[in-house]
Amino acid sequence: MNAIEFLQPNGNMLVFPAFASPLLFHGVFNRLGGVSQAPWDSRNVSFGLGDRPEHVLANRERIKKSLSCAHLVSAGQVHGSNVYIVKEKPVEDLEVKGFDALITNLSGIGLMIQQADCQAVMLFDPEKRAIGIAHAGWRGSVADIISMTVSAMNQVYATDPADLIATVSPSLGPCCAEFINFIIELPESFHDYQVRPNYFDFWAISHDQLCSAGVRSENIYAARICTQCNQDYFSYRREKETGRFASVIGLR
Ligand SMILES: [Zn+2]
Repeated sequence: MNAIEFLQPNGNMLVFPAFASPLLFHGVFNRLGGVSQAPWDSRNVSFGLGDRPEHVLANRERIKKSLSCAHLVSAGQVHGSNVYIVKEKPVEDLEVKGFDALITNLSGIGLMIQQADCQAVMLFDPEKRAIGIAHAGWRGSVADIISMTVSAMNQVYATDPADLIATVSPSLGPCCAEFINFIIELPESFHDYQVRPNYFDFWAISHDQLCSAGVRSENIYAARICTQCNQDYFSYRREKETGRFASVIGLR
């Protein structure tokens, strides 16, 4: 896995240099620079957490403006492994219930995942001009939503996984990913990823799941920023009642 140096165009958005392409726009938007009040302060993008809907809408509008994208399609996120194929351009922002991953080859749409410790894994196929994004909390990792997303891109867009560039967003790091019930929650294949008793390296798990799906190790980039350690990100583990930050990717 590559350690990378971040560009920070406006201070509150991270971009992956590996995704620097005229075909692409993307960003990981931290919790700063929004309008929501505590405990969702300030750039909460999620409805249904108790935040005022008009604040969530305003935060989403700012994200669209900074990416110059017309509409956002977000996953409803149920910690499952269903992949939604965006086949037509929406006329307004769309949140698809029951899905944890999104793929498309249409331009102008920002595919968005909402996070507070979970990973957003973003995928870019520069050959077939297709993208994907997956929400991977520990349940998503157990369900291997990463391989589901890669194989959906292969089936729908003929993506060769060896062409994919993959990034792993800021998320719960091995420093903080304590699973005291791991014997019942995590499969035996994950037990090797324990960095000390009860602490797991889910960044390494995602790296290895991407490789198993056919992505080349040198094409995988992880932010290696822990959301529980870094106060600029919402963290469910740190705060329980909090907002969600956004990772967004789209084709120009
Ligand atoms: Zn940490």
